[in-house]
Amino acid sequence: MNRRRVLLIFVLFASIFREDSARAAQAKIWEEFSGEKVLAHVQRLVDFGPRPPGSEALEKSRDYIEGQLHLSTWQVSRQSFTDETPRGKVRFVNLIARFPAHGNDAASFLLCAHYDTKTFDTIRFVGANDGGSGTGLLLELGRVLAQRPDLAAKIELVFFDGEEAYENFSGRDGLYGSRYFARQLGNGGANQFRGGILFDMVGQRSLKITLPTNSPAEMARDIFASAEALKLRSHFTYLDREMIDDHTPLNAIGIPTIDLIDFSFPWWHTAEDTIDKLSPQSLQIVGSVALYYLSEFAPKR
Ligand SMILES: [Zn+2]
Repeated sequence: MNRRRVLLIFVLFASIFREDSARAAQAKIWEEFSGEKVLAHVQRLVDFGPRPPGSEALEKSRDYIEGQLHLSTWQVSRQSFTDETPRGKVRFVNLIARFPAHGNDAASFLLCAHYDTKTFDTIRFVGANDGGSGTGLLLELGRVLAQRPDLAAKIELVFFDGEEAYENFSGRDGLYGSRYFARQLGNGGANQFRGGILFDMVGQRSLKITLPTNSPAEMARDIFASAEALKLRSHFTYLDREMIDDHTPLNAIGIPTIDLIDFSFPWWHTAEDTIDKLSPQSLQIVGSVALYYLSEFAPKR
């Protein structure tokens, strides 16, 4: 074989290999997800300090979230409203991100998290896991999904304000952002959105995602199957009860939404909910299972 022919064969093989690996990278989008990048987002948020509704630190969080989403071309809008709370009128702001549409694609699936932290008078609560982890995870999902515009165009990212109750969860306290969002969608929302995933407290080192018993059964099954496919099934189980969280108002208007929450977190609503309790591996587990689900299950429905 002469040198030119050897070179030709080499070039041919190299190009086939390159195409194959590009296809593989596209197919396995969940491998693009970085738990380290999520943790870096959470660090930035925690550095702003406690982030209760109406605070300057929460306004800084909004600017940060918007800036990060713009980097991967998401378009962000602010949904502002005021509501009556046990502490009087408070102004809340949900952030809603959409990917520039491709053809006739309209968003049909919600990915959500709350970005506020609970108001405490007596402790300094920075909510690394409760408020921080879900927000950071959603930002990283935004970055990765942007690599698959066809998939991203089907997704709406929603950052809820005012998830936390001032006193106790009731029809009038807590879930301010998701209740307002659901009210604005009205019953037409159930026609537009086929489903949603909520992320809340997804970063603790010994991760155990505890699906509430009132999770939509089909989605729970597919989440378990996604975890199984990635050999991460041991991190997912059922909680022993139902849960009130931002998925509740969405399910109430007919959008099946599953709450990926780790309610086994010992530092829940304490000053100890700090970044040292989180690990990039845990964030990676939740992010990759969600991407596997989105890529392999959600659009096929
Ligand atoms: Zn909380």
